[in-house]
Amino acid sequence: MATKRLLGVYAHPDDEGGMSGALLHYGTLGVETGLVCATRGEVGEISDPALATPENLGQVREQEMRAAAAVLNVPHVWFLDYRDSGMDGTPENDDPRAFSRANPAEVVGRLVAIIRQFRPQVMVTFDETGGYGHPDHIAIYRHTTSAFYAAADDVQYPELEAAHAVSKLYYSSFPRSALKAMGEWMQTQNYQGSFSRLDPDKLGMPDELINVRLNVEPWLETKGRSWAMHRTQMDPNNFMAKIPEELQRKWRGFESYHLAASRVGPDIAGENDLFARVR
Ligand SMILES: [Zn+2]
Repeated sequence: MATKRLLGVYAHPDDEGGMSGALLHYGTLGVETGLVCATRGEVGEISDPALATPENLGQVREQEMRAAAAVLNVPHVWFLDYRDSGMDGTPENDDPRAFSRANPAEVVGRLVAIIRQFRPQVMVTFDETGGYGHPDHIAIYRHTTSAFYAAADDVQYPELEAAHAVSKLYYSSFPRSALKAMGEWMQTQNYQGSFSRLDPDKLGMPDELINVRLNVEPWLETKGRSWAMHRTQMDPNNFMAKIPEELQRKWRGFESYHLAASRVGPDIAGENDLFARVR
């Protein structure tokens, strides 16, 4: 039987947190796993000035990403070498190296090169909202979707390795119901963070679009250990830690995936498996 391979494609170190349970789950089943990171998160937070400076944050976050991947037993990590574009409306958007400004044909070419080399059957990226609208998240969603088609087309990028047809493309997101429950709880706590200003009826993924709801409770401890490797991004006033156990489980105990494109037919209710029908 051919080796199964799973590829996650994201914009910044720490974006992989949304599928870290799947990486652990399928890795244990013998699936070879890999992660693509378009940028090094150069304009992210610095939780503690002892860890990084604005000048070397990209290098530090690359090391954090590699350490997080090691906890997840992910042997392959690729960087596309673009620059973090920052949150929408910030001056970083205008940097000529910003990922959100990159030439689409060039980005797709870099992704096609990795796909044709690694030959995954299943790929995962953000959905069209990018989770919360970060311009790099939306860009990686768009380019990964294009690369799913381009990698399989031998007319495109003929200078790269032989065409490879990925069987399934999934978008990972939070279910709207879980985000709504979280928002309601935050209201009871008078939480005033950026999250509370988002419209709960537009947040996350409508529950009826979720094809795979993966129970990752057995992996919560390891997921947490991997997440903690992103030390520069750890919020010192960790609001999430105050969330009651029951809500935490609802929020973190499952990972949700929408089947965006498939060459092996649709997911059937009850299958609940990213690799269902993949040979
Ligand atoms: Zn991100």
